[in-house]
Amino acid sequence: MTSTHDLVAARSRLLGPSLSVSYRTPLHIVRGEGAYLYDADGRAYLDCVNNVAHVGHAHPRVVEAGVAQMRLLNTNTRYLHELVLRYAERLTALLRHDLEICYFVNSGSEANELALRLARTATGRPDVATVEVAYHGNTQRLIEISPYKFAGPGGAGKRPDVHVVPLPDGYRGRHRGADRSTAESYLAEAREVLAVAVATGHAPGAVIAEAIPSVAGQVVPPDGWLPGLFDIGRAVGAVPIADEVQVGFGRVGVDWWAFGPQGAVPDIVTMGKPIGNGHPLGAVVTTRAIADAFANGMEYFNTFGGNPVSAAIGLAVLDVVEEEGLRERARVTGERLLAGLRELADRHEAIGDARGIGLFLGLELVRDRATREPDPELARELANRAAERGVLLSTDGPFHNVMKIKPPLVFSDADATLLVETVDAILTEMAPMAARGGETSIASG
Ligand code: PMP
Repeated sequence: MTSTHDLVAARSRLLGPSLSVSYRTPLHIVRGEGAYLYDADGRAYLDCVNNVAHVGHAHPRVVEAGVAQMRLLNTNTRYLHELVLRYAERLTALLRHDLEICYFVNSGSEANELALRLARTATGRPDVATVEVAYHGNTQRLIEISPYKFAGPGGAGKRPDVHVVPLPDGYRGRHRGADRSTAESYLAEAREVLAVAVATGHAPGAVIAEAIPSVAGQVVPPDGWLPGLFDIGRAVGAVPIADEVQVGFGRVGVDWWAFGPQGAVPDIVTMGKPIGNGHPLGAVVTTRAIADAFANGMEYFNTFGGNPVSAAIGLAVLDVVEEEGLRERARVTGERLLAGLRELADRHEAIGDARGIGLFLGLELVRDRATREPDPELARELANRAAERGVLLSTDGPFHNVMKIKPPLVFSDADATLLVETVDAILTEMAPMAARGGETSIASG
């Protein structure tokens, strides 16, 4: 068997150097099942991070659906085929009645790229309004509208055709709290940003947002923020786009879509990651009016988008979510897990905030609860030590101090207990170091 050392060396020899690897000791994962990953030595790791393996790693129903269809046929959408139509019917049935037209693509990035093209063609305007610290994908235009990238290392800065509204972070942002008045404060600033855009001849054709900003640190916006943002966009003629790539497909438990509970009304919804449970699949769903405007004579062709194998897999994912009651499970397990994390926050000074909805949770680590000074070293060390104990977590947020928790929805009560106990044990063993100040920054990768 190839050693970890050899694999790391081969990666750096063969793969693009702008690719990172997780954990101080990189893991050589060779198999997955349910909420668990297994390394080459057979050691099990509880996966608390992978929201792509939505219904569980290597779910047999999903695998069989893909294999059976691959045995029969895989081809493009220029032939008639029932599966893609059945899939479009199932997907649109989960959305507001006028979100009725589907485009199938191969990734979240492709979905967002197409969403921007739809909005641009429908409005004739290239400008885009986006949220601070957002990430929407890896194409050139998506990097240009993703502050997480263009304002980060290697980024080229904000372009004049991009308009950034503030991140509605009720824990650490300029306006604190979870209620409507906090939302209104953020919305007043967003209104101002768009007013300036309009006044300078840059009225946006799209406003894109996640219902729970993810790479910004699992930020749960104050009540009314997302519908308010979409209304502000609509008022200046921008098409509201809900990016459900991270948060969609029942993860929030109470709804199929994270924008649902907030009462937001997008005209385009983009989907990726969990939609295919690991198979490369994405979708854009929109209104007839936007789709008709996009049909301006230029064909939209996507070689793999909507192929029967992907449709069979997408259908199987929906079947499993429904038949195994995974939305309800996300709600119940998520509530229990959040209660456990909040109980930890009562005992560990280093936890500034525990938040989230369903199985999309965040744990924000701070050096000082009063000043809320972020503690990225503790976050990184917690992720490394948890991995050494067989529990996989990762960090995010603009200060890299938020532990992301977004496991496969098959995550059980016992898994939630293991996660809470592991975090508890590590924070307990690190507390004396944290109290002495700064010594948590043990070198890590
Ligand atoms: N939107 C969001 C919110 C994302 O987090 C990501 C990926 N992390 C994307 C879009 C792009 O998805 P992909 O990497 O599958 O193209």
